[in-house]
Amino acid sequence: MTSEENERREHHHRPRGHRAAGPAPDAHTLGPLDDAQAQLAFAVERLGLGPGAHAVLSAPRRELTVSVPVRMDDGSTQVFTGHRVQHNFTRGPAKGGVRYAPTVDLDEVRALAMWMTWKCALVDVPYGGAKGGINIDPRSFSQGELERITRRYTSEIMPLIGPDQDIPAPDVGTSEQTMAWMMDTYSVNQGHTVLGVVTGKPVSVGGSLGRASATSRGVAHITLLALAHRGLDHARSTAVVQGFGKVGRDAARLLAESGVRVIAVSDIDGAVHNPDGLDIHALMRHVDATGSVAGFGGGEAIDGEAVLELECDALVPAATEGVLTDENADRVRAGILVEGANGPTTKAADAILARRGVLVVPDILANAGGVVVSYFEWVQANQAYWWSEDEVNERLRDRMTSAWHAVLTYSQGQELSLRQAATCLAVQRVWEAHRLRGQYP
Ligand code: GLU
Repeated sequence: MTSEENERREHHHRPRGHRAAGPAPDAHTLGPLDDAQAQLAFAVERLGLGPGAHAVLSAPRRELTVSVPVRMDDGSTQVFTGHRVQHNFTRGPAKGGVRYAPTVDLDEVRALAMWMTWKCALVDVPYGGAKGGINIDPRSFSQGELERITRRYTSEIMPLIGPDQDIPAPDVGTSEQTMAWMMDTYSVNQGHTVLGVVTGKPVSVGGSLGRASATSRGVAHITLLALAHRGLDHARSTAVVQGFGKVGRDAARLLAESGVRVIAVSDIDGAVHNPDGLDIHALMRHVDATGSVAGFGGGEAIDGEAVLELECDALVPAATEGVLTDENADRVRAGILVEGANGPTTKAADAILARRGVLVVPDILANAGGVVVSYFEWVQANQAYWWSEDEVNERLRDRMTSAWHAVLTYSQGQELSLRQAATCLAVQRVWEAHRLRGQYP
C-alpha cells in the first residue's frame, strides 16, 4: 500500500459540520472547539482556578493563517488556506501535528492545539500544544503538488516554527514524507540541517525507531490496561477498531498479537466482521494489495457505521473527531471506549456513554504515544545519539503506564470520569507552570 492509500484509510468519517450532505448529529451548534472549551471550563471550575486562569488557558497564544499559492501540474496556480495555532508554550516549545483534510478550519485547529497542550502535560513531556493544517483533500493531488504545497506552507509558517519554538509532526493526511519535506525546507532556509524542527520523520533522515507505530502501541497498551482494570482477561476479550490508517492498523495488529480477538475493522471503503477474530496479518496483506479492508475474504462485509455499534469489550475509534454523537451513543455496545483518534466522542455522546457505564479512555491519554515518541525523536535528534527500538518501546510503555495509573487514581479519588480526571491533571500542571513563571510584566 502506498502512503497516500494509507492516509486515505483515515478519512472515512467526516467530523460534524463538515459532512457532504444532510445535517450531522449536533452539527448545527457544536464542533470540536466547543467540546474542547467545555472540557477546559469544567477543569478550571473543578480545580477552583478562577476566571483569570480560564481566560489565559482558553485563548490560543498565537495563531497564523496563511495563503499557500501553489503551481499545479497543469501549469495553473491555486491558493490554499493553511493555519498554525500555538495554544500554549508555558511548559516548553509548542508541539503538534499538521493535518491535510477538507475539514480543516481555524476552529478545528484551535481545538486540536488545545488538546495537544493537555496531552503533553499529561504524559509529562516538556512541551506546550500546537496544531496546523491545510484545507485540502490530499488524495486529489500528485506527489509533486503535495511537495510544493508542503514546502510553501512550511515557508509561510516559518516565523512560528523551530526546534525551540514549535515542532510539527504528522497528523491525518500527512506522513513521514511530508515531515522530510518540512525539515528540508526549514533547513535550506537556515543554511544547515535542523533535525529537531519536526518529528515523525523517516528514520533515515533523523526519525526515531518506533515512532511510526508509537501512537498505535500506546493505544494498545492503554486498551490492555483498561481491560485489566475492568477485570477482563485480554486473551478472552474482543475489540473493534474503526479506521485502518496510521493509528488503527497497528493498534489492531498489536492488540491481536497480545491475544485480543479483533472482531471487526473498518476504513473509508467498508468494514469486515468475524466474530471468531480477524486474521490481522492476512488483512494487512489484503489492504496492501487492494488498498482497502473491503473485500477481505476472512470476514463478512458490514456497513462502516455499524462497527461502532457491535458488541465487544473494547471499541477503538481511530479515524477522526465527532464519530460518536448523541445520535449513535445509545447504540454503542462496547464496555470500554479507547479514543485512538482526537476528539471522536462529542460532549453529548460522552454524557450518554457515562450514563450507560461505558468506560471512556480519553484521547489525550489513549493516543499520547505518538507525541511521547516524538519527544524521544527530538531528544535523540538534538543530541545526535540514537536509541534502539527496544529502548524506545520500553520508555514509551513506562510513560503510558504511569499516565494511566495517574489518571485512574485521580479519577477514583475525585469521583471523576477518566476524561475529567485527565483534563484536570493536565490543566493543573499547565496552570502550575503559569503560576510559577508569573505574569509578565
Ligand atoms: N498528531 C499527533 C497527535 O495528535 C502527534 C503529534 C506529535 O507527535 O507532535 O498526537
